[in-house]
Amino acid sequence: MKQVILTLALILTALFSSFAQHKLPGLPYKYSALEPFVDSTTMYIHLNNHHAAYVNNLNKALEKYPELQNKSIEELLTGFNNLPADIQTVVRNSGGGHYNHMLFWKILAPAKTTSISEKMEKAIIKDFKSIDAFKAEFETAAASRFGSGWAWLIKLPSGKLSIVSTANQDNNIMQIAEIKGKPILALDVWEHAYYLKYQSKRAAYIKAFWNIVNWTEVERLYNE
Ligand code: MN
Repeated sequence: MKQVILTLALILTALFSSFAQHKLPGLPYKYSALEPFVDSTTMYIHLNNHHAAYVNNLNKALEKYPELQNKSIEELLTGFNNLPADIQTVVRNSGGGHYNHMLFWKILAPAKTTSISEKMEKAIIKDFKSIDAFKAEFETAAASRFGSGWAWLIKLPSGKLSIVSTANQDNNIMQIAEIKGKPILALDVWEHAYYLKYQSKRAAYIKAFWNIVNWTEVERLYNE
């Protein structure tokens, strides 16, 4: 009998998680694919502990609002002010975390598998004068974020590119964002993203990041 109940419980849990709206994605590469710049253990923990917690907390918050369960993560974040007050904080933190990490996994790629195209290079140079100046500004945004947060390259509604930094899991598609824009490149500067390998040397992690940017995906997002 105990066995039957246990099996039923397992089936129900599996059913529930398959119906849950927001799902943890798989990585488009192996955990070890970004070595030596980001280590395999960090990638595993980052996805299966940190990102998974954001997804679970978001789904849990939406349980009592069936009418919100078919909304995409983008719809939830851009329509933030219309959400019930009691779940706004969870959607901001965990929903933001889910969106940010889904983007982050995609704009990373194993070293030397992509490079900046001529078109993307032109777009960057137009708004930042040179690739080096662009990288320097991005690195400063990532390094100077106090505490936890992100550095972003965003495309403003005007089409212009801009570098910004946000605290916690905020991003620039959120209704509450001061500057609205579409993120096309992201760097997670929470300690969980780098501490195992880099300890307190955030600057070294930021420098290493350039080796594993998926420029093909960045350009796809830019053109989209
Ligand atoms: Mn993270």
